[in-house]
Amino acid sequence: GRFGLPGRITVAGLGISGISAARALAGLGATVTVVDNGDGDAHRAKAAELAELGIEVRLGHLPDGARAGEALPEGTELVVTSPGWQPESPLFRAAAEAGVDVVGDVEIAWRLRGAGVELRAARRVAAADAGEDAEAERAPAGPAEWLAITGTNGKTTTTQMLASILKAAGLKTAAVGNIGTPIIDVVLGEEEYDVLAVELSSYQLHWAPSLRAHSAAVLNLAPDHLDWHGTMEAYAADKGRIYEGNTVACVYNVADPATEKLVENADVEEGCRAIGFTLGAPGPSMLGVVDGILVDRAFVENRQKNAQELAEVEDVNPPAPHNIANALAAAALARAFGVAPRAVRDGLRDFRPDAHRVAYVDEVAGVTYIDDSKATNTHAAEASLAAFEPVVWIAGGLAKGATFEELVRNSRKQLRAVVLIGADRALIAEALARHAPEVPVVDLDRTDTGAMLAAVREAARLAEPGDTVLLAPACASMDMFANYNKRGDAFADAVRELAAEAA
Ligand code: ADP
Repeated sequence: GRFGLPGRITVAGLGISGISAARALAGLGATVTVVDNGDGDAHRAKAAELAELGIEVRLGHLPDGARAGEALPEGTELVVTSPGWQPESPLFRAAAEAGVDVVGDVEIAWRLRGAGVELRAARRVAAADAGEDAEAERAPAGPAEWLAITGTNGKTTTTQMLASILKAAGLKTAAVGNIGTPIIDVVLGEEEYDVLAVELSSYQLHWAPSLRAHSAAVLNLAPDHLDWHGTMEAYAADKGRIYEGNTVACVYNVADPATEKLVENADVEEGCRAIGFTLGAPGPSMLGVVDGILVDRAFVENRQKNAQELAEVEDVNPPAPHNIANALAAAALARAFGVAPRAVRDGLRDFRPDAHRVAYVDEVAGVTYIDDSKATNTHAAEASLAAFEPVVWIAGGLAKGATFEELVRNSRKQLRAVVLIGADRALIAEALARHAPEVPVVDLDRTDTGAMLAAVREAARLAEPGDTVLLAPACASMDMFANYNKRGDAFADAVRELAAEAA
């Protein structure tokens, strides 16, 4: 078919990425069927919109008793997955039995890079025919290079930092993948990019077999999403896919040997280099930190020097250790792409983190309040706890099968006190009793939304001037809130109430 696409494609899931894929593929001439097990009003409204575009949508139960997402529609030549679909889904099993490939949105976007270039060229010809000469004279650009980022934590932050650095270098870029506009829409859209900063989840990597990035980074590896991947080995292997076929640099975390192992096992293009990042002094082929300066020993243009200064630690927002690591990874990818040191510094200075990621809320009675509601797993919570001392820690929520032993053991020295809320707080309480019996713990025994205000009041009572009160739940939020944003908002509201009372 056109652009190397098969004629009949089935899209699994009527979410944001599924709808984007269905529209794009139908727009390129494929016959598209979307299947989704839901059949509520919202689903029906979306299905009606797609039907207008000639896309068939199969919702809920089929007459033969099979559910929409279980049977492979007749004649399907390719299946496109959506986030959240289990690899063992009956639909994918049916596809495997029929010898039909299953891929994700990232794979489709990768395969359609050339199509995007052609579509933009065609639009330009049309513009010229319409007498818009300026459009016609613009030089056509090839597909954008991809700089890819994955890891258990820090993906979004690092991807946005990278985009900020690339922008400061005067490059046309966007942060895409797991964030922002669906990646297929970006690749096929009107905008021409020099380079894309691409955040990739382990699921997206699992379903993107032919992706070959210019350079890629794995920030860290900790157990997460094991319910989906099955084992830690399978999860690591999916993350490691990001290095396959890299042409310039594979960026790894020196403090996390598992990431270096993934580089060693990857099949890369000749001349592609392994580049480490470290919070300590860098060895050759590494970026690191010396006397409060981010330095690059991997990409040094001036042969007289053996290191290139990039930025000061204070240029990183916020300058917490885990975030300095993110900045070094972003800098490594930018430098691999040829970005100048000055643009690294300017891009880091321009960067503002998204809400609820180690965000400063307020200072009340000499105590600083920090919202890291996005710390939804133990690895993330441990990283933010490491940035503050002494700290009154507010934690708890849905544990998702996690254990808290290691987190508590590694963080106990930081802790002034702990306030627990949420469904699985007993798991954290047990770990604290075993590994940090000296730390005062208040178990609020509450899961109602008002519990956050009570938790902040408790924390304020336990904190001393100079302390930090940190919301870093190490758990998902859905037991008490719609999502981590709402949880962080509740925390900030509670702090504001506290501040108003203190004033
Ligand atoms: P992701 O996109 O991987 O979920 P984010 O950039 O949104 O990552 O950050 C999520 C949370 O993870 C942050 O709120 C912080 O607690 C923690 N975090 C960020 N960077 C790191 C890192 N390099 N190592 C460990 N934890 C981190």
